[in-house]
Amino acid sequence: MNSQALPRGGRNAVKEDIVSLPLQQLQQALADLGQPPYRAKQLFGWLHARRAQSFDDMNNLPAALRAKLAASWRMEQPDVVRRLQSADGTEKLLLRLHDGHTIETVVMRYHHGVSLCVSSQVGCRMGCTFCASGHAAFVRSLSAGEMAAQLYTAEALAGERIDHLVLMGIGEPLDNFDNVMDFIAIVTDEAGADLSMRNISLSTCGLVPMIEKLAERKLGLTLSVSLHAANDATRSRLMPVNKAYPLARLMAACRAYREKTGRRVSYEYALVAGQNDADTDADALADLLRGTDGHVNLIPVNPVLGLPATASDAGRTAAFAARLKARGVNATVRRRLGADIDAACGQLRLQEAGRIPEDTVAAYL
Ligand code: SF4
Repeated sequence: MNSQALPRGGRNAVKEDIVSLPLQQLQQALADLGQPPYRAKQLFGWLHARRAQSFDDMNNLPAALRAKLAASWRMEQPDVVRRLQSADGTEKLLLRLHDGHTIETVVMRYHHGVSLCVSSQVGCRMGCTFCASGHAAFVRSLSAGEMAAQLYTAEALAGERIDHLVLMGIGEPLDNFDNVMDFIAIVTDEAGADLSMRNISLSTCGLVPMIEKLAERKLGLTLSVSLHAANDATRSRLMPVNKAYPLARLMAACRAYREKTGRRVSYEYALVAGQNDADTDADALADLLRGTDGHVNLIPVNPVLGLPATASDAGRTAAFAARLKARGVNATVRRRLGADIDAACGQLRLQEAGRIPEDTVAAYL
């Protein structure tokens, strides 16, 4: 075999996932095999538009090329371990990856279309106290192909096109920057899934240097910053990342992001009873956002057994929203989807790993 045909890791390396390559990288890989540029486009179409299951399916590629590709690259799909369907139309999938680790992805149905909540890592290093993913050990980051496979698997099962993505599942997307950028390049490519950049939302807990790096890319996506508190003491208690990047630095990065990209930043605020949902918290949030045109999404936090967070009730949530609006802040209360199927991110995975007994979680919800 021509040494140029080997995966980038070298002769003895485990084969790399070809689904992870954006078109430009695929063109380079095929050029290394002596193939003309149109072959890369054909291959990309098989992987990302027609969703071929194996190289053998790609019947307009020469057999010799298919054999070379199969010798150098892998293209597995994840196994669907569980599929939970909620009464409100939300579907949650637990997927097993090639190395046995599991991740979750969630299909959500809104009036504006179908949206997929994508996981970017197995576990998460950020340790937010209210989050099931932060409760589980970080294992590894996902490849671009493993993120794309969530979309392709979900679309195949749902039998319909998913036109919005939120990078808000397990993991911190900006802690997996390069793979997330490749994933976005792949799914927005018109030769593949052809998603609109404007229909992609990337959620971060506030990794300031990576927000700055993302701003340099000037992508048309929506940056969604998880605030969850408007003062450093409470935020550091809920989200340890705040100790490294406190609110003043975070808000400066958000303002700079707005200026550089021209895109409004949106802010997530999960209401946790007794911790961040008082009138004084709403006033502090309004002060923090003064002078920005950011939009606040209020989310009744999904309960996770064993974690010190209970959702604010409907009355408190409405009062909090009204107080923000009275102070000129654009705020909406997000509908809680999939409460009957353990929708809190990472919860199904913890159950699978035996960390939370299934019946106890069901009872708790
Ligand atoms: S909320 Fe997001 S960043 Fe925080 S621990 Fe959970 S997955 Fe990680």
